[in-house]
Amino acid sequence: MSGEVRTTCPYCGVGCGVLARVEGDRVHVRGDPDHPSNFGRLCSKGSALGETMALDGRLLHPEIKGQRASWDAALDLVAHRFTETIAQHGPDSVGFYVSGQLLTEDYYVANKLLKGFIGTANIDTNSRLCMASSVAGHKRAFGEDIVPSTYEDLEQADLVVLVGSNLAWCHPVLHQRLLAARATRGTRIVVVDPRRSATAEDADLHLAIRPGTDVLLFNGLLAHLAAQGATEPDWIARHTTGFDATLALAQADASDRARVFKGCDVHPADLARFYDWFAKTDRAVTVYSQGVNQSAHGTDKVNAILNCHLATGRIGREGTGPFSITGQPNAMGGREVGGLANQLAAHMGFLQPELDRVSRFWNAPGLSQKPGLKAVDFFEAARTGQIKALWIMGTNPAVSMPDAGKVREALSRCPFVVVSDITRTDTTRYADVLLPAAAWGEKDGTVTNSERRISRQRAFLPLPGEARPDWHIITDVACRLGHADAFPYRTRAEIFREHAALSAFENDGERLFDLGSVSDLSDAAYESLAPLQWPVRRDAAAGGRLLADHFPTPDGRARLVAVRQEGPARPVDRDYPVSLNSGRLRDQWHTMTRTGHVPRLMTHAPEPVLDLARREAQEQDLRDGDLVRVESPYGEALARLRVSDALRPGEAFLPMHWSGLFAARASAGSVSNPATDALSGQPELKHVSVRVTKA
Ligand code: SF4
Repeated sequence: MSGEVRTTCPYCGVGCGVLARVEGDRVHVRGDPDHPSNFGRLCSKGSALGETMALDGRLLHPEIKGQRASWDAALDLVAHRFTETIAQHGPDSVGFYVSGQLLTEDYYVANKLLKGFIGTANIDTNSRLCMASSVAGHKRAFGEDIVPSTYEDLEQADLVVLVGSNLAWCHPVLHQRLLAARATRGTRIVVVDPRRSATAEDADLHLAIRPGTDVLLFNGLLAHLAAQGATEPDWIARHTTGFDATLALAQADASDRARVFKGCDVHPADLARFYDWFAKTDRAVTVYSQGVNQSAHGTDKVNAILNCHLATGRIGREGTGPFSITGQPNAMGGREVGGLANQLAAHMGFLQPELDRVSRFWNAPGLSQKPGLKAVDFFEAARTGQIKALWIMGTNPAVSMPDAGKVREALSRCPFVVVSDITRTDTTRYADVLLPAAAWGEKDGTVTNSERRISRQRAFLPLPGEARPDWHIITDVACRLGHADAFPYRTRAEIFREHAALSAFENDGERLFDLGSVSDLSDAAYESLAPLQWPVRRDAAAGGRLLADHFPTPDGRARLVAVRQEGPARPVDRDYPVSLNSGRLRDQWHTMTRTGHVPRLMTHAPEPVLDLARREAQEQDLRDGDLVRVESPYGEALARLRVSDALRPGEAFLPMHWSGLFAARASAGSVSNPATDALSGQPELKHVSVRVTKA
């Protein structure tokens, strides 16, 4: 690999290893054959990374109110306005909204500054939109935000159930690994998704359930497992609590098979086949993703799935387990450092012993004592004046948040907005201070993928213009705020060591997130760090499966959680009769600020297209190619129409990617419902009631 730098793809949570080589002004990439997550594979987005490196549109110097400024002037102003706001209105009047694109070291410093030294937990992340319900479900069941499975488990399973996951498009390399394993061992694949997605096309069985009926489906499965004697009573007795109450509610909810197939609106024979396969297949993995998480009842859906694995002891063993797949490259790293408003740090929450421990470790007597505002509430607080100074890092909430019109209103009303990013976006236009951040290929640190694997992202290009890494920018502001002693960092290796040391601090096996053995890495060892799966305790072998026989709860047992089927926050009605789903396309990433510049990626879907079920299209006399208006109670979008037979009657689907930069008013965020899950705060992005008319 002469001249090649080993790094990690910046897109999805698969976390593929990439070898990058610079030749003149061109960057060449190929999959890293030695990376244990992808073994040399890359998808269409990853293999086009070299074509996204042009500096066109890059932010190259700081700006104040749209005018070029020096770093000193910009950072002095940020520190001054934050200090002034906190002095006048208290620490909860400020906040950070960060991103799964940040590296773990960036995330760690941002979280430490806000929670530890400014004294508010108003730091939330766009990962809230992606997997917060999984975090809440894991904490309820396991006591800690633990992902028990690994990619190998998918390859070693005989049955893989994909729930609300278009793995073929959203996590393509993992899908390739699954199909390759199926070719050799004959793995059965079941897809549970209202839409016949590309992934469903490859499945042995597709259950196109009525949207939002996942809890009913899995409660029915739990009742079936019990009726068939397919649960594991000894394992349940030794390792869990709550089984009887959970089963009782599942049996009441899904009292007979007819109630389930009618409620889920699937063919009775298909339902019976799924239940029979699950009951009879010991090696079963259930992969779930945004289709489960992005719901007003996402946490209950997660626990309904976890219940079935706990009742059968299919967890912590080869080829088994529930498996939450994250959307972003470092959603997991953000969760690990505490980059969510309701997580403190290193998988700890806001219980008094945890607060005391983190306060001691950071020497931070002013540590925030309570959770902060989650994303939707965070921007609403900015809109209503409670938050008066905010800093957005590496994300584009002006289009990606639900009810995005209100978020734009919040940004225009907020007295002081700082944005650090690599290019101009819909959000940067609201910035009082705009800071040029380092991009992929220029920044350097670590990310954690969906299977708990920490990999290095390495720089192979110089920083352009005056751009700086995020951790560096945040550290400079922390010092200006008077916290230089707590933020002495000169390198990201120092930050990583501190993060690892915090995870192991006063941790006698109480928490599974433990990076103890890498807390004293030398700088050279950090530079050459090979992909590493946690936990990496000082006294135990690294990585592998978790949760075989001990759970990080007070009694060491997992909790089955009784959950009941509930409907969407706002069902369809006469005015808004169509249920709109949203999601990713194969070749695009987020709001297209990178992938939208690659012509060959744009050819897959050059413009925003609304897929509408044939029945509704015929009722409205709409045809392929018509320009249509999609209206919800929260906003509207314009898109080209495609009549679809892949959708259930009454359904529509709009990609999440387009924004004002590419097509006026064609953002799924503009029409989305801001209703959130009461536990996780994750918005209901997979369902909003809309009407579709010819534009
Ligand atoms: Fe990148 Fe995900 Fe594609 Fe891998 S599967 S190359 S991480 S976008």
